[in-house]
Amino acid sequence: MLTDYRIRQRDHLLQIVRALTQQLDLESVLTRILRAATEMLAGRAGLIALRDQVDGDDKKGIATFSIHAQHGVSPEFLEHFETVLKNTTSSAVLVDPARYIIAELEQRLHMLARSGPFNLEGTIGLPLEARGDLVGLLLVLRASASPSSQNEMKILQAFADHAAVAVTNARLYEQVSQEKRQLDALLEGSADGIMILDSGHLILRWNKALAQLSGVTPASALGSTHDETINWSSTPDPNLADAEARGWPFESASPLYVEGNLLQSTGEELAVGITYAPIFDRNKRLVNIIANVRDITRFREAEQLKSTFISVISHELKTPVSLIKGYAGTLLREDATWTKDTINESITVIEEEADRLANLIDNLLEASRLQAGGIELNISTFNLENLTKQLSRKFQTQTTEHEITVYFPKNFPLIEGDQERLLQALSNLLSNAIKYSPNGGPIKISGRTTRREIIVSVSDLGIGLPIGELDRIFNRFHRAKTAETSHTPGAGLGLYLTRAVIEAHHGRIWVDSDPGHGSTFHFSIPIKT
Ligand code: ADP
Repeated sequence: MLTDYRIRQRDHLLQIVRALTQQLDLESVLTRILRAATEMLAGRAGLIALRDQVDGDDKKGIATFSIHAQHGVSPEFLEHFETVLKNTTSSAVLVDPARYIIAELEQRLHMLARSGPFNLEGTIGLPLEARGDLVGLLLVLRASASPSSQNEMKILQAFADHAAVAVTNARLYEQVSQEKRQLDALLEGSADGIMILDSGHLILRWNKALAQLSGVTPASALGSTHDETINWSSTPDPNLADAEARGWPFESASPLYVEGNLLQSTGEELAVGITYAPIFDRNKRLVNIIANVRDITRFREAEQLKSTFISVISHELKTPVSLIKGYAGTLLREDATWTKDTINESITVIEEEADRLANLIDNLLEASRLQAGGIELNISTFNLENLTKQLSRKFQTQTTEHEITVYFPKNFPLIEGDQERLLQALSNLLSNAIKYSPNGGPIKISGRTTRREIIVSVSDLGIGLPIGELDRIFNRFHRAKTAETSHTPGAGLGLYLTRAVIEAHHGRIWVDSDPGHGSTFHFSIPIKT
C-alpha cells in the first residue's frame, strides 16, 4: 500500500508529465513543478531560476540566472534574490559550474533568507542539469532549519529532473522554431524558384519566386506532383523521371541538373535550369528532393549573342577582305596589262571595302565601349537642319537611284547636343535607307517640333520591316530576316549605336513600317527650356 505522502507525490509527478506532454508554455510547467515540490517538502516558498543563455565561446565563462517561476515569495525577497543571481559569476564557475554556483548561491541565499524580515531558516537547492549542462536551479525555502532527509532530496531530485526536461524541450522547440523561421525567410526571400518534393514527387513547398516564374500559385501547386505542375514545352533530356529510372540519386548522390523551356500558365515559354538535390535519412532512404529553379533567359541570350557575333563578324570581315585580296591579286598579275579605267575601278573597290572594314571596326569598338560605360557627350548648340542638308548632299553623290530630300519647318529651333554623335546617328539612318531600298526611290528627311521635343524622321520606300522586328532591330547584332534574304551586307550594329546616341541625349528612337513597302525611322530629342 502506498502511503498518503507517496500517493500525493505520484499524483504530482503524473500531472507534471501530463503538462510536459501537453506542451504548455515553459513558465506554467515550471510553476506547476515548483508548487508540487514546495508542497511535498513542506516549504514556505520556492524558486526556479534558469541560467541565462549566451552565445558561442562565452558559454562557459558567464553564469547569470533569471527567475522563471516562483511560488509564495514576497516581492522584496525576489528583488534581493535577483541581485544575488546576477552576481554569481566567479572564476570558480569556469572549473565546474554546477558545483560551485549552487554551493555559492545556496550559501548567499541562506544568509539572505535568515536575515531581517524574511525569517526563513532552511533552503534546499538542486541544480537543473540537462545532458551534463547546468541549465538552472530549483530552490525550496523553509521556515525550519532542520536538515533535509535523503528521501526529501530524492523527491526534490525527481522534480528537478522534470524541470530540466521541460527546459530542454522548450529550448529545443525554440531552436527548431527559430531554424524554421530562418528556412522560411530563406525560401521566401530567395530570388530563385524553390520547391521541396517528397520521395514520391509530391510538392511540399513552392516559394514565391517559383510562383512568379511559373505563374502557378502555391495553393494550386501544393499537394500535386512535380510532373503535374512542371510543364515542359518539350521533355528535356535528362529529366527527373528518366534520371530516377536510371538510378539517380542512389547511383550518384550529386545534384541533377535539368535545362528546358517551362510552359508558363500564360502559355508563354521560359528557359529555366532546375537543380534537384536529394536528401536522405539515416538509413539512406530518400526523403526529400530540393529543387532550385533558375530563369536562364539571360544566359541563353548571351550564348545566342555570342554565336551571332561570331557568325556576323566572320561574314562581315570575310567579304571585304576577300574582295580586297581578289582585286589586289588581279592588279598584281604580271601576265596581264590593265587599262587605266580598270585600274581605277579596282582601286576604288579596294578603297570602299577598306572603308567598310574600318567602319566595322569602329562600330565594334564603339559597341564595346558602350557596354563598358555609356557615352560621353560633347555638347554644343547647333543648327540640325544645316547639318542634315550637308549630309544629304554627301550621300546623294553616292547614289543615282535615290532622290534625297530634306524638309525642316521655318521655326525649327537650334538644338543642344553632340554634333559629331548626332551626325553619326543620322548617317546610319540615311545609309540604311539607301541600303534597304535596293530599287531606289525617294528618301525623305524631315524635322518637326512639339512642345517638348524636336522629332526627325527618315523615310524610304524600300523592303520595310516585318511588324515583329520593329523593336528588335535596335538590339546588338540583330538583323531582320528581310535584310539577310536581300543579301544586304551589315553587322547589326548601326541602329544599336544610333539608339545609344539618341538615348544619351534623353531622346527616343522608333520605327514605323509598311512591310515590303518602306520604313520610317524617327528620333526625338527634348528641347531645353
Ligand atoms: P546593319 O544594317 O548593319 O544590318 P543596323 O543596326 O543598321 O545593322 O540595322 C539593323 C537591321 O535593321 C538591319 O539588318 C535591317 O534588317 C533593319 N533595317 C535597318 N534600317 C532599315 C530600313 N531602312 N529598312 C528596312 N530594314 C532596315
